[in-house]
Amino acid sequence: MSSSTDPRFAAGLELLGRPISPLARIVQMLYLTGPFDRVAEVIDELREPIETHHATYPEPAALLRPHLDILETFERLKHPRPPLARIIDEDGSPLDAMEALALYVEQQLLTAELERINSLLCTPCGCTLCCIGPGDEQRQKFFEIPLAGHEIERFPLPRVESDASRAGSPHDEPPLSRDGHPFYRSPAALYHWQEGWSLILPRHAACPHLKPASGHCAIYPERPDVCRRPQIFAYALERSPAEDLTVEGRAVPGYRARRKLLAVWDCPYVQRLQAAIGAYGEACGLEPVFRENKG
Ligand code: SF4
Ligand code: SF4
Repeated sequence: MSSSTDPRFAAGLELLGRPISPLARIVQMLYLTGPFDRVAEVIDELREPIETHHATYPEPAALLRPHLDILETFERLKHPRPPLARIIDEDGSPLDAMEALALYVEQQLLTAELERINSLLCTPCGCTLCCIGPGDEQRQKFFEIPLAGHEIERFPLPRVESDASRAGSPHDEPPLSRDGHPFYRSPAALYHWQEGWSLILPRHAACPHLKPASGHCAIYPERPDVCRRPQIFAYALERSPAEDLTVEGRAVPGYRARRKLLAVWDCPYVQRLQAAIGAYGEACGLEPVFRENKG
């Protein structure tokens, strides 16, 4: 049975085959060129099926309504508000306001959509690669799971938070010393680095929430953000702190346009569904990029 007909992947493949992003571009164009004050009015008008080069959407309004809060960002085209973000092109040049807004919305739509798709595709694989440290066959000495400050409470592990850890990164040479040896030779722990917190899984270690018998996550509904986004990523925009601005005392985050969809080749469903992932990226106007992460 080919992967594209394997029923275990059917739900994820259906979403990959019908991305929301092309519909969002249509909404943006209609909103800008039509007599609409609010984006919700555009969506209410979409009563007929829509066909694009890549997919048919029998009920476009029903697909778009759950994303109204993101799509309302387009209202800035008619109702100017303080800037949400500063977005520049990949080469550093200024970006047209329409295109910048389209990429900003696309990044958020795809992040939400891919969380669902990744979750649907991961479950049938019976794989735990994202939740364990490197094995003997891998060159890395540890794997890192970045965590937001509020997420570390979910992990009952020792914390390493010293002047030395806060001044460096896990990839520094020489490595941070813990108990007289490189930190990655100690058991799994939470580390506070210059960039923030991360869970470090040394060789043969596992996340404390990985259930050994089933391979499932014990805190699945509350798993950290980073665990929600393996292994296909929206990379329409990249956060770029160097472009941050302060406007009238308000911080405005900077981004750089990338227009890519990243997929991590180590993941079994990425390998099996390469063609469908590539087609999804192209339908969204993003260049699909497959790359190895662990190995
Ligand atoms: S929190 Fe859950 S999903 Fe995340 S690494 Fe641990 S077991 Fe895996
Ligand atoms: S590598 Fe892929 S299939 Fe394996 S746990 Fe991670 S997301 Fe799931």
